Parts: sequence; C-alpha cells; structure tokens
Amino acid sequence: MRKLSLKNFKLSLRTNNIQQRFVLRVLVPPFVILLVLGILIFWQLDNFVRQQAIDELKRDSSTTAVRLEREFTIRKTILSRTGEELFFIKSSYLSSIDALGKQRTECSAHVKSKRTFVNAPNNSCEPFLAEFAVKGSSSLQAVEDGYIRVGEELIQTQNQAINDRLSAYKQFFPETVALLVINDSKEIVSSAQSELLVSSIDALTEIAGNAISEPVEGKLVSLNDINLSTFAYPITGGSVLAAYDTSSESFIRESWQSTPIDKNESIALILDSNGSPVYPVLPFSNNIKDVQDELRNQKSVNINLKDIDNLAVASEVGSSKWLVVVSSPSVAVLAPLKNAQVIAVLIIGTLLVGFLWVGAFFIKRTVDSILGLVSGALVFSGGKLDYKIQLKNSDEEFVALANTMNNMADRIAKIEKEVDEKNKEFISIATHELRTPLTAIIGNLSMITEDFGSRLDETIKPLVGQVFESSVRLKELVNDMLDVARLEGGRVEFSPVNIDIKLTSKAVIDNLQITAKENGISLTYSEAGALEVFADEARLRIILNNFVSNAIKYNRPNGSVTVSHSMKDGKLVTSIADTGLGIPEEQKAHMFEKFFRVKNDDRKNVVGTGLGMYITREYILSMNGELWFESIHGQGTTFYFTLPLPSN
Ligand code: ADP
Repeated sequence: MRKLSLKNFKLSLRTNNIQQRFVLRVLVPPFVILLVLGILIFWQLDNFVRQQAIDELKRDSSTTAVRLEREFTIRKTILSRTGEELFFIKSSYLSSIDALGKQRTECSAHVKSKRTFVNAPNNSCEPFLAEFAVKGSSSLQAVEDGYIRVGEELIQTQNQAINDRLSAYKQFFPETVALLVINDSKEIVSSAQSELLVSSIDALTEIAGNAISEPVEGKLVSLNDINLSTFAYPITGGSVLAAYDTSSESFIRESWQSTPIDKNESIALILDSNGSPVYPVLPFSNNIKDVQDELRNQKSVNINLKDIDNLAVASEVGSSKWLVVVSSPSVAVLAPLKNAQVIAVLIIGTLLVGFLWVGAFFIKRTVDSILGLVSGALVFSGGKLDYKIQLKNSDEEFVALANTMNNMADRIAKIEKEVDEKNKEFISIATHELRTPLTAIIGNLSMITEDFGSRLDETIKPLVGQVFESSVRLKELVNDMLDVARLEGGRVEFSPVNIDIKLTSKAVIDNLQITAKENGISLTYSEAGALEVFADEARLRIILNNFVSNAIKYNRPNGSVTVSHSMKDGKLVTSIADTGLGIPEEQKAHMFEKFFRVKNDDRKNVVGTGLGMYITREYILSMNGELWFESIHGQGTTFYFTLPLPSN
C-alpha cells in the first residue's frame, strides 16, 4: 500500500509537469502571437480612428474652404467686371469730353468766319443747336453755352453710370465700404467710399496699386477703426479694389455657417493669409494663429482651447492663403475609438479566453488520456494485473492503446497464474514427497541416538546429533513450505468453533516451557481476561506457538516472555510481549512478508525459514482477526492479535 501511494505521489508531480509542458509548448506560443496581434490591432485601430476623425474634420473644413473660394471667385468676377465698366465709363466720358472740346473749337472757327452755324464741318455745331436757336446762328456765346450744357450732361451721364454700377455692386455685396479703380499710373479713375474712409483713400490706393501686378485677396487692414478686408484685381489699364467691412453680417458669414459641424462642440475659424482671425474673432484665436504653419502643412494639431484638448485641422481657401480651421474636442472626436476599443478588447479577450478554454480542454483531455495510460502501466508494473485502464472522452487511438495494454496485462496475469500454480503444485508435491523420507530419517536418527547412543564412537556421536538437528530444521522448513503452498493454493480449510483461548494458550505455553528454560527465559502466562473465541483450534495453536517460540528465540539470556489478554474496542486482544532483540525500525514494514528475516548481526546465528510470521498472519486474517506489533530495537517486541468472539 505504501509503495503504491508513493508512486501516486510521483505521478501527481509528473501530472503537473506534463500539463505545464503541454501548456508551455502548445498553448503559450499561439497565445503570445494572438496577444501581440491583438495589441497590433488595438494600436492600428487607434491610428485608424484618429485618421478617420482627422479626415472628417478635414472634410468639414474643406467644405467651407470650397464655399469661400467660390465666394471669392464670384466677388472677383463681379468686382473685375465692375472695375472694367467703371474704367470704360470714365474713358468714354473722357473721350466724349475730348470730342466735345474739338467740336467747340471747330464750330467756333466756322461761326467766326461764316457768321452762321450752317454747314459747319463734321457737323461740329450739331451739339450746340439748342443754344443757336436762342442766341442766333452767328453767336459765339451760343457755342460756349452749349459746350457748358453738354459737358454738364456728360458728367451727369457718367455719374449716373457710375452710381448704377456702384449700387448694383452694393446690392450684391452690402458689406462693401469702398470701391476704387486706378489706372496703370496709379491715378484714381473712379472711387466710391464711405465717408469714414475719405481720409484713408491713399492707403486703399496703395493696395490697389499693388494689385496691378498681383491680385490681393482678403488682405486685412484697419482704417479709421474699421476692420476691412480688401480684395483687389488687375484689370485692363489698371486695377480695381473693393474693401469690405468684416464686421458686416453679410461678409463671408454664409460660407462660415455652411461648415457641417455641431457648433456646440466644434469650432470653425476663418483666418486670413497672415493667420489673423477674420471670423469669428474668439478669445483663443491667437492660440490657433500660433500653430497656423503646422495647419498649413496639412497636419493635424492638438491644441488646448478653453482648457479642453482639441484636435484641429485646416484647409486653404484656393490661392488666397486664407485658412478655414475646424477643431473638435479630442474626447468627442475619439469617442468612436473608445467604443471600437471596448469592442476590440471584448472580441480579442473573448477570442483569447475561448482559445485558452478550448486549448486547455483538449490538452486536459490528451493529458488525462496519457496519464490514464501511464498510471495504468505503473499499476501493472506494481503487479496489479487485474487493474483495468479506463479512459473517458479519449481519442480512439488512446482507447485502442488502453485496450491493448489491458489485454496484455490479462495475458500476463493468465500466464503468471499458470506458472504460479505450476510452481505451487511443484512445491506442494515436492515438500509432501520430502516429508515422508524426512520423517523416516528423523525417526531413525532419534532411535540411533536414544537406543544405540552408548555404543556410538565419541567422534561420531556429535556428528549424528548435528545430522539429527539439521533434519529436524529441514522438516520444519518443509512443513512451513507445505503450509504456504496450501495457503496460496487455497487448500487450507478452517473449521472455527467456540474455544477457550485460555486452555489453548496454557497448552502451548506449557509445551514451550522446557525450551524457555533451556534458553534461560522466564515464560509466564497471565490468563486474566481470557475468553472464548470463534477459531480453528489447530490454527490457533500454531499462531500462539509461532509467536511464543519467536519471543523465546529472539530473546536474550534472563529475558522474559509474557502472554496476556485484554479487551479493546469490544475485541479480545492477545499479546505476546518479550524483552528480546526487537526489530529495527527500517525493517518493520516487511515483517509479515514471505521469507522475510531481519538482517542484523544481533541474530546472525539464529536459524529460521522466514515463513513463520507470514503463515501466522495469513491464519489470523483468514479467521477474520487482526494483528500488529510494537517493537523497540534492542529492547523488546510485543505482538498483538485479535480473533472474533463467539457469535452468541
Ligand atoms: P524466522 O524463521 O526467521 O523466525 P519468522 O517469520 O518467524 O521467521 O520471523 C521473521 C523475522 O522476524 C525473524 O527473522 C526475526 O528476526 C523477526 N522476529 C520475529 N519475532 C520476533 C520477536 N519476538 N523478536 C524479535 N524479532 C522477531
């Protein structure tokens, strides 16, 4: 039993090992790969969602930028056309005035020489006919009056045309506070401006002058405390400039409004080419101005606005260098990331747990199968060949192996049994056959020593004595072996009856008193407590004889042996206590094994077969009794045994 539990212990150690090894070799590598993949996905997800958010903001800002660009284009188209028209009005006025001057000179010369306006060359007197009608056909004053009248009419027509253009332009762009046309010499051709800007016309002229070579789009200037956004474009013969009041509701507001963002959360800002905020002008606009270079480089920028982390991106408005910046709190922008990450963690986690669970399940199944086979093999090697390996939920290969091992064990058991039986039969026959001649030898030797001892030569006498003793020991051995063979062959029959253990004990002790005396041992029997037991008397005798004779045999001179009875847990316990050699601790476990003899110098001269205690144990157990012993090496031994009490 102890041997087997030690094996189980070793086996359980190995169980941990094999499971650990399986987990390490089979589960850990893919687990690590999955984990790394999971982290990569997690990280990629972060990049992906971030990029998505940036793209979204980029789309929002470019929507507004495109809208603004279109607005700028419309402004440019209308402004250029208006400029061209104003230029044309001016130049046609100038040429009309010029032509009028020429007509005046020619008509005056004709009237002077001919005294009439009739037949003036090139119809040069035509414009002044109304005045001739009043003053007479030869009046030079009529020419002068007509010249003044027509000149004033021309100015009025010109002013009317200019006013028409201006009001048309204002209708389009009510935020216009100044409109200026200059010629290539940077002289004003035509101008209209709010009264507040009259004194600032030079500044505007300078901007318009710059626009002769290169358009100016949205340049911010502050004149007379008015923030102006100036747009100026080259036209044939000069340039045209419009200045818009940036605080006006109609200036770029619509484009700004069109930004498809939730304005409660996100912010859209329009910056001019210098990065100055045009609309709306917010307290933190300068923070954004500071990062405009990065924004212009198409980068997304993390920026703190109103104590909140924001993600900002920008789109340029055509070639104007204006910027539309859109920013959104990072938390809101990356909210989908959180969700995606939670989902990713859940999916990856579930996959990993599932993987571990399934992996562990299959490993456990395989390890269980292997361990079932290994422990089966160990049980078989321990000699328990009737054991059956049973595998549950195993692959068919393992089951086939288990069945094969079971069949092999069956076959070995069968062969072992056959060999064993043959051996036992042989021993039984041999010992039985040896007994008869041995009995004859012992009988004859005893007769020789007793009847003819006096006639034997003194040198032969001890030899005959030795042969006699050896023959007696040989007979004991043969008897013991015969008993063992019978026991193992199941051929010992027990006939238990109610017997008085006191009588049997007394008989055995009396029988052994002589031997005890010869060895200088005091053998005492304390019959107190002796009762009837339910046992086979002949076997009880052998049991008591074996215990008591061993107690004498393994005693020391002047030692003692005491046989006594007591009741324990309702059982009659018989004890045989001696003051002899005792049994070494490390050999106690083998006490009742077949052929076991204590190996120690203190009893090297004591002869024996090593079968007495084995037979004793088998007899006691066969009669439903129990036995055990206590011993201290060098001090003595006490054997205990119980036998059933009579049943009624
Ligand atoms: P043996 O024929 O050797 O006496 P047993 O089976 O009777 O064989 O006893 C087995 C061994 O147990 C003995 O060799 C002996 O050393 C030891 N033994 C048995 N009884 C006693 C005892 N009372 N005191 C000391 N040793 C004992």
